[in-house]
Amino acid sequence: MDKVTLRASVISGILFLVVIILIFELSPGFSQRIKANPTEKEVSGDKNAKSAVKTMEMDPNDNLDIPIPEGVTESDITVSSNMIYKSVNISFDVKDNTFDVAGVKNTAKQIIQISYSSDNGRIDISISLGGHYNVKWLYQDNHLYVRFFDINNSAVKVLVDPGHGGNDVGANRDGIFEKNITLSVCQKLKELAADDEFELYFTREDDTYSSVEERAAFANETGPDLYVSVHINWYDEGDIQGTSVLYNSLNGTDKGSSYWLADILDRAVVKQLGTVDKGPVEGDSIYVVRYTQAPAALIELGFMTNDNDLNIINSDEGQAKAAKGIYEGIKQALTESNKIK
Ligand SMILES: [Zn+2]
Repeated sequence: MDKVTLRASVISGILFLVVIILIFELSPGFSQRIKANPTEKEVSGDKNAKSAVKTMEMDPNDNLDIPIPEGVTESDITVSSNMIYKSVNISFDVKDNTFDVAGVKNTAKQIIQISYSSDNGRIDISISLGGHYNVKWLYQDNHLYVRFFDINNSAVKVLVDPGHGGNDVGANRDGIFEKNITLSVCQKLKELAADDEFELYFTREDDTYSSVEERAAFANETGPDLYVSVHINWYDEGDIQGTSVLYNSLNGTDKGSSYWLADILDRAVVKQLGTVDKGPVEGDSIYVVRYTQAPAALIELGFMTNDNDLNIINSDEGQAKAAKGIYEGIKQALTESNKIK
């Protein structure tokens, strides 16, 4: 190849690239990948999780700052995350406006990849993190500020496990899925505990599946003071109802045991929900109860097979009460074990 042909092919190559980039940028369903990392697991789900903090200390060198288009309000923004899979999803409708990807300022060292996509005015921002970071966000003056916290820096922490997720819907009656109720209760719980002296974090805050083995391994890796799993019960060989909390009988009944936590949570939840009290129930065969090293309990809020229980746990009010009960139980357990005052 001589110099002239080489230059010509370089120029046509560049022109070709420019055209490709223009097509890419101008197409309505554009997708811009800032840094490729094909090994990261893709996250699916309906991204209905929502949580915010009232105040957040800012650090210009450690924030993700997303400019939110005019007309989009805080309630239009959905932020969901999955600590096990180290992923965060942010989405909102741009309404009649456009979203300026170039206006995003990222100084958060925890982020290894951000990708953007848009579909019919819906902007989706997918973030992959380099570790199991707890995600907090604050909406202020048309900016969404997102920060990522190392859970190991929290003195007192509780891992909350909304049961099931993704293709594993859990109990299912007439299209009411256990996975959605458990997530909703845990989101309300997160809001209740937003400003407390202990930190709550979650095995999932979106509609993503992870196995019980992954959940227990995540708990044992991060070492919470308590582990609280939330489920809905199912029994179709008779109509039984009520709240029960499963515990690991192999670890005694002393303060700090699985039984001790189950008993506290059972009383606190029943007090709020007004359900039949079935008490702590031996749950040695339940993986997360048995293999989590922290005091672990699995709450069965009620029976989906029972109309009365289902009415309670499938209502917004009932889910708020369940969250309040779990919140009060967690606070009592942390107080009794002198983790908080
Ligand atoms: Zn379940």
